[in-house]
This record gives sequence, C-alpha cells and structure tokens, in this order.
Amino acid sequence: MLPREVGYVKPSTLAEALDLLAGNDGARALAGGQTLVSVMKARVASPDALVDLNGIDELRGIELDREGKLEIGAMTTYSELIESAEARARPILGEVCAQIADVQVRNRGTIGGNICANDPTNHLPPLMVALGATMTIAGADGERAVDADDFFLGVYMTDVGPGELLTKVSIPPGRRDGFASVTIGRDGTCIVSAAASLDNGPRVAIGCVGAVPHRAADVESKLNGDTSLEAARSAVAGLGKTLDPPSDVHAPSEYRARLAEVVTARAIAQAGSRGSH
Ligand SMILES: Cc1cc2nc3c(=O)[nH]c(=O)nc-3n(C[C@H](O)[C@H](O)[C@H](O)COP(=O)(O)OP(=O)(O)OC[C@H]3O[C@@H](n4cnc5c(N)ncnc54)[C@H](O)[C@@H]3O)c2cc1C
Repeated sequence: MLPREVGYVKPSTLAEALDLLAGNDGARALAGGQTLVSVMKARVASPDALVDLNGIDELRGIELDREGKLEIGAMTTYSELIESAEARARPILGEVCAQIADVQVRNRGTIGGNICANDPTNHLPPLMVALGATMTIAGADGERAVDADDFFLGVYMTDVGPGELLTKVSIPPGRRDGFASVTIGRDGTCIVSAAASLDNGPRVAIGCVGAVPHRAADVESKLNGDTSLEAARSAVAGLGKTLDPPSDVHAPSEYRARLAEVVTARAIAQAGSRGSH
C-alpha cells in the first residue's frame, strides 16, 4: 500500500521544528523513517505533515566529557554510533547497534527514533534502561530531563508529548555492560532481549516481554557481586514465572518467559566478564 498524501517540511533549527510541531496537531517528526515510513505505508499512521529533523545540526553529534559521560544527539545514526571513537567509551552501544537489521537501516535509523518509536522488539529501549540513560526533551516551555525508567510508557508511547522533541540521550560512565537476544534469523527482530549493566547498579532490563522494557529488580537484588554465568543463572531462576509476555507467531508466552531467563543470564555474565577500564 502507498501512504496517503502528506505535507513535508525540513527545518534547519530546533526552534523552528518545535514551532512547526506545536502549530499542527497532525504533524509528526521524521528521523530515519525506518519505522515511521513503514507504518505510513501500512496506513497505521497517517500524519498530515512530516517535520524532517535531518537538517538540524543541533540534534547530531556525540560528546564525551572528562568523567566519561556521553551525550548523544537524538539524530545520531546507528552507523555513526558504531564508528564513533567517543562512543567506544561505552562499547556496548556500538555492539548493539551493529546487531540492528542491515546496513541500510543502520545508515538511516537514529537513536532518537529507535527509542521514541518504543517498538517492544527494538534493541535500544532495554539497553537505555540498563545503562541508566537520561533523555532530554524540548518543548515550548523549555527542556526537561527524564530517566529511562520513566521514559517508556507503552507500545509506541513515550514521555515525549505532542509538540515536543527528544533532543539528546545522556549516558553515565561505565563499561561492564552486556546484551543478549534471541532473534528471528541473524541480526533480525528480537523475540526476547536483555541488557545488563554493573557499573551503576546492577541494572537489568528485558525487552519484548511487555509494552515497555521490564526492569528485573528481583534479579538485580540477587546478584550479590557474583556475575559468573552460574551465579547469573541462579539469580534468574524463577524470573519467567513473574513475567506475562505476549504470544505471537514467533513464540508462545511460556517459551518467551523461559527465553527471558536464558538471555538475561547471558547478558549479566557478559557484563561481568568485562573489566571496568
Ligand atoms: C527492515 C527493518 C528491520 C528492522 N529491524 C530492527 C531491529 O532488529 N531492531 C531495532 O531496534 N530496530 C529495527 N528496525 C527499526 C529501526 O531501528 C528504526 O530505525 C527505528 O525503530 C526508528 O528510528 P528512525 O530514526 O528510523 O525513526 P522514524 O521511523 O523516523 O521515527 C520513529 C518514531 O519516532 C518519532 N521520533 C523520531 N525522532 C524523534 C525525536 N527526536 N523526538 C520525538 N519523536 C521522534 C517519529 O515521529 C516516529 O513516531 C528495523 C527497521 C526495518 C525497516
């Protein structure tokens, strides 16, 4: 199917983009278009106008401060994250982005679009929760910062409100991170994913088991500093029973719950196998 006719504007400043969005309830931000254009073609979404963010330099770039904190512009693509010397301060970012789809999607898709879409099968929402990322959201009333724990509200819903834009993602210093998933084919869509981070936590988040990333607080509290695969397996025992994941053509609920235990243990063990420097 083809999308219905749609208006198109390409502002060159954030202020202009916010004005355009605030002035038209039916306008939507366009980032890499790798989700939005697909849902427009399926007519699941039919915005009146697209506000293309690709001309806004303020939304690009990766900065690393002296303490090791990263600030990543919302319009930074997966390929830019994979290639960035600064982003290597948190190696898991490039590693996970390299697992997303194919090179065409990685060249267009952006960190901001990935988390604003909050498709439960996307790789980055659980990773952002595990890393303890903070999202900066701009609107007519200025800027606000939202923790990843509070950012994801439902399927395709986040704390970014009408007339607002995500401008950057801030990630605290740390290196002991892990990510594991079971996907549909190599580098395909996740059936279940899990991310773990030990330097500011432990923090453990699971994807594809609900509308938003599931923070596995029970598992975190059972780790007690031992992050070997054996200890991780024992910490995740029973996790599946606390989840109520959806069933679909790829996996019934019970299987997904069991997979969640497996990938969560792997993500924790991977994080534990890494030195902090
Ligand atoms: C074939 C294929 C396979 C894929 N496989 C995977 C996969 O395995 N894992 C994965 O994680 N993803 C996958 N994706 C999705 C891909 O990662 C998308 O790039 C991502 O979901 C959306 O990012 P985008 O930059 O393309 O955003 P867009 O599609 O342009 O936008 C997505 C949504 O976010 C909103 N938005 C975008 N930027 C902002 C902003 N700065 N502020 C506020 N709202 C904003 C848009 O209005 C829209 O509602 C796949 C896509 C395709 C086409």
